[in-house]
Amino acid sequence: MADACQSILISPSGYAHHPGCHHIAPEYLDNPEWARLALHGVSFPPVDEDRPLTVQIGDRTWTAKRRCPDC
Ligand SMILES: [Zn+2]
Repeated sequence: MADACQSILISPSGYAHHPGCHHIAPEYLDNPEWARLALHGVSFPPVDEDRPLTVQIGDRTWTAKRRCPDC
């Protein structure tokens, strides 16, 4: 899964995860409650209250304010 490192998944609860994280069951990837953000070659950015990560897909917006501590 070389390209797995090239994206971030944002959970409905506002955590940013690497796609390979053990918190993410395969079916979550098809769940519209989760957002996938492509990184396009940059590394996983810091994510915290002061540096939230926002993704807009269609008319929905996901905001991650915490990074998963395990991935
Ligand atoms: Zn995680």
